[in-house]
Amino acid sequence: MRIDVLTLFPEMFEGPMNHSMMWKAQEHQLIDFRLHNIREYTTDRHRTADDIPYGGGGGMIMKADVLARALDDITGQDVPSPVIFLSPQGRLLSHQVAAELAQHPRLVMLCGHYEGIDERISELYITDQISIGDYVLTNGEIAAMVLIDALARHIPGLLGAEGAHERDSHADGLLEGPHYTRPPVFRGLAVPDVLQKGNHADIVTWRRQQSLRRTWYQRPDLLMKAELSEEDRYFLAQLAAESIRQS
Ligand code: SAM
Repeated sequence: MRIDVLTLFPEMFEGPMNHSMMWKAQEHQLIDFRLHNIREYTTDRHRTADDIPYGGGGGMIMKADVLARALDDITGQDVPSPVIFLSPQGRLLSHQVAAELAQHPRLVMLCGHYEGIDERISELYITDQISIGDYVLTNGEIAAMVLIDALARHIPGLLGAEGAHERDSHADGLLEGPHYTRPPVFRGLAVPDVLQKGNHADIVTWRRQQSLRRTWYQRPDLLMKAELSEEDRYFLAQLAAESIRQS
């Protein structure tokens, strides 16, 4: 997958994109990551990429002509690909949105700064807007890195073949249950027996129940949309009774 990022601050990507899984994704050519400095598309000697807003009100706006030159250059010659603007006004990033975006062979991402971008760029070039949460960041670079990391996990070959990531939180609409590693007892707290005994079927059942339990207590809203079996519903009914007894 090719990802082109347009940014005023390419150096912000150096740490996150050059370590751990993001480094591996590039090293194994699963992601062809290309950074484009928007300032390269300015025409004045001060390399001005922003200007004051019409109507006043403070803050600076990223200029339409500079962004248009950058986008024409980067998207111009190739097959059309989604052009994403990272914005607090976009659709919310989720496991499903990340999986959907990971299907594209190429994505272009525009990182905003200051008060944002000239609206005409949205009208002319942007095909999708993604928000990483209902809060406002100072820049789109951090949001782009979050988005890239979230969607990279859906690119076949990046994560281990054992499928541990398939049990990760949100993969099946639930939160994942607890994990343990050695030692078997730490500060008086023991690893649950079922994990130590190692019976595969029992572990599968236990993990599912822990996942349901955690979701029930920490994110009950997720249960409304999760796919649940008869056994799951029976277990949740028991949890409901347990909650009533405790209250
Ligand atoms: N004035 C804008 C508004 O109210 O919608 C916010 C501008 S914000 C200070 C600067 C840039 O940070 C935005 O253009 C966007 O690229 C990025 N940004 C801020 N919050 C974000 C979020 N929750 N998700 C994605 N990008 C965000």
